[in-house]
Amino acid sequence: MAWNGRQQALQLTNIEAFRSYLQSLNFSSWKPSGIVLHNTASPTYQQWWHSGTPPNQRIKNLKDYYQSLGWSAGPHAFNDGVSWWIFTDWNKKGVHSPSWNGTRLGVEMVGDFDKENPYTDPCVKVWDATVAMFGEALGFFGWDCNGTIIKLHKEDPRTTHACPGRLVTKDRFLADVTNYISEGGDHGQEPEEPRSGVVSGIGPGDRLNIRALASSSAPPIAGYIPPPSSVLIMDSIPSSSRTPLAI
Ligand SMILES: [Zn+2]
Repeated sequence: MAWNGRQQALQLTNIEAFRSYLQSLNFSSWKPSGIVLHNTASPTYQQWWHSGTPPNQRIKNLKDYYQSLGWSAGPHAFNDGVSWWIFTDWNKKGVHSPSWNGTRLGVEMVGDFDKENPYTDPCVKVWDATVAMFGEALGFFGWDCNGTIIKLHKEDPRTTHACPGRLVTKDRFLADVTNYISEGGDHGQEPEEPRSGVVSGIGPGDRLNIRALASSSAPPIAGYIPPPSSVLIMDSIPSSSRTPLAI
């Protein structure tokens, strides 16, 4: 079968590089409608980092393995806590969950979260990297952070195994992604220099809502801003369909 995954995985070492990667893609032939969270289970985190095979070789081996199974691709990314490995481009269908290959992205956390704790060192590095990746993806695609957009692999009715591991709770993952988005994804970055701008394209009687979270389903917490008004924009999250602003 033709291989639709990348010939060579793209290794990204910071979340800004992932943001740029998404912005570089053309989604005219396929655009996802959600993301599925996985864990590798085998290899475990311990095996990935401490059994002598370097991560780039493991990624190559995974490609060979999936091709030997006759798969057309694999998941879209593997996160090992140091790198975000783009395995299948995010504008192409991957192979990761029977019911959702045609419609959703699949992201693998390196670890066996039946046994390894995703919330403590060292595996929390994988968790945090994955939270960041989901937060960036939601912002980019203009998706709300909820249990419809984000699925755990085990929620696929055509899947029997407990991926991404029994220690992973969906509520906690959603809460952490929501938190990442509400912080604007700017962990430790310096704020930009103030600059002036004018909001345009607002229809008569329309107004700007102020929300608690970067989500159109979040309730307006502080009412709205009637035009004309001035606000200080602290940060923004680039997105394909809308751009939440922190004010
Ligand atoms: Zn899975």
